[in-house]
This record gives sequence, C-alpha cells and structure tokens, in this order.
Amino acid sequence: MVNFRGQANPSHVSPVMQEYLAEAYRVASYQTDSDWVSTTDLADRMGVSPPAVARMVGRLKKRGLIEHEPYQGMRLTPAGRREALHYLRQHRLTEMFLVRVMGFGWHEVHGEAEALGPAVSERVADRMNELAGRPQRCPHGEPIPTADGRMPRVVDKVLTAITPPASLVISRVNTDDPEKLIYLAELGLTPGQPFEFVSRAPFEGPLRLRIEDHEQVIGVELAGVLRVCAPQDFLLTEFEDDSNDADESPEGSGLPTRKRRRRRGKQPPVTSI
Ligand SMILES: [Zn+2]
Repeated sequence: MVNFRGQANPSHVSPVMQEYLAEAYRVASYQTDSDWVSTTDLADRMGVSPPAVARMVGRLKKRGLIEHEPYQGMRLTPAGRREALHYLRQHRLTEMFLVRVMGFGWHEVHGEAEALGPAVSERVADRMNELAGRPQRCPHGEPIPTADGRMPRVVDKVLTAITPPASLVISRVNTDDPEKLIYLAELGLTPGQPFEFVSRAPFEGPLRLRIEDHEQVIGVELAGVLRVCAPQDFLLTEFEDDSNDADESPEGSGLPTRKRRRRRGKQPPVTSI
C-alpha cells in the first residue's frame, strides 16, 4: 500500500519526470490491449521530440521507475506508478479546486494545475479536497487517486462505440482543447450529466442526443472525445489493483473477482449498455 502522507518529498523525482510518468499512466489507462506505452505516442501526447522522450526514458529507467523494451515501449514499475498517482492526485485535485472553489472554467485549469499541482503538499491537498467537496473526479471526469495512493476504477466507453438507444451519463471528456471544452459546456455535456442517446445516422453520420428536455445533434469528431457510462457507474466505488509495491499479479489484491476483473491499463467494457 502506498501512502503519500508523511512523505515530505517521497522520492526526489522531479516534477518533469513525474509528469512523464503520469502521462504514460494516462495513455496506458486508455489502451485496451496492453499496458506498454509507445514512446512515440508519449512524445505526441506531450508535444516533445522523440529524442527528448528517449533521453527521459533513459533517466526514468535508470531510477527504476519504468521498464523499457525496444519495439514495445515503456511500462511503469510499481515505483513509477506510485509517482504517477501522486502527480495525478495533485493535478486533478488542483483542477477541481480551481473550478469549484475559485470559479475557473473547466477549459482554463489544465495549464494552471500543471504549474501549481507539483507544489501542493499533502496537507494542502487535504484542505483542497475538503473545500472542493471531496471530489472523486477532476472537472474532466478523470479519477482522482486517494490520499493512500489508490486509483478509483472508471468503467466507461467512447460514445461512438455505443449502439442507440441508450440512457447514459457523461463520464469523461478526452480532450484538453479549450474550444471543444467550451462548446461541450454550452451543450451541457459535462461529466455527471445524464442524457439519452437517441439515434445515429449511418456511415459515420451525426448522433442525436436528448439532454434534459432538448435534443442536440453532434458530429462524430465531438462524440469521439466523450466517454460515457451507465448511470450506476458514474459514482466510483472500485479501485484499480493497488498491490503495487511488489506483487503485480492480479491475484495479489485480495479483492473480489468483479473488482479486479481487468488489470490496470485495460479498459473494461461498459456494463449494461
Ligand atoms: Zn482534468
């Protein structure tokens, strides 16, 4: 079990290194087939050059934070995962604090949280957590790791993979494009919002949604950033495998079968849709 508390500086891993680890964790969490992350994908996601990623991969590997295999990419070790979760907790909690307490828009907070997050001590994080109403998710729907280092498990699916009709809830938005975020907020399509997926035109045509009492048509591109879940799955009650200190086997968590039906880095199917 990881515990961020009482660790003034858990590891002397720099915020930049933590950011790479967190991004690798995030990329892996969206993959369905593997928890290895391609370093090219990572370079794209982070807007840096492949040589810069290669240098960072070398540093992270040397410190035992990742494994790296040619042609396969990189994978977080338990220590790397711990750093990633610590970074993600600070980042996502800061985002929620900025939105709920300080009144920022959800399209404004990613960059701010990138700068502020690493400076947030666990004591400050605790207070932010209280003031923001103990959120389970960031404004964009991403799960916030707990203070004891556990990652809540999100069960969702991209909207374009769902066959209508279906009663759904917005789970996450997988974009940091401010214009898309502003538009989605105007439509009311933010995490936690229930809606009906009414129909979809054939051949990649538009999708018709009913949000409260009005209908809205959205295109495939926008639908592609929306991740949705069954209403009962929005509240996060399960955690990813948290036996991350030594035991990486799925048998190690001691959780009931349903709770560990999929390993971290895999995307479970949306239930009941
Ligand atoms: Zn966020």
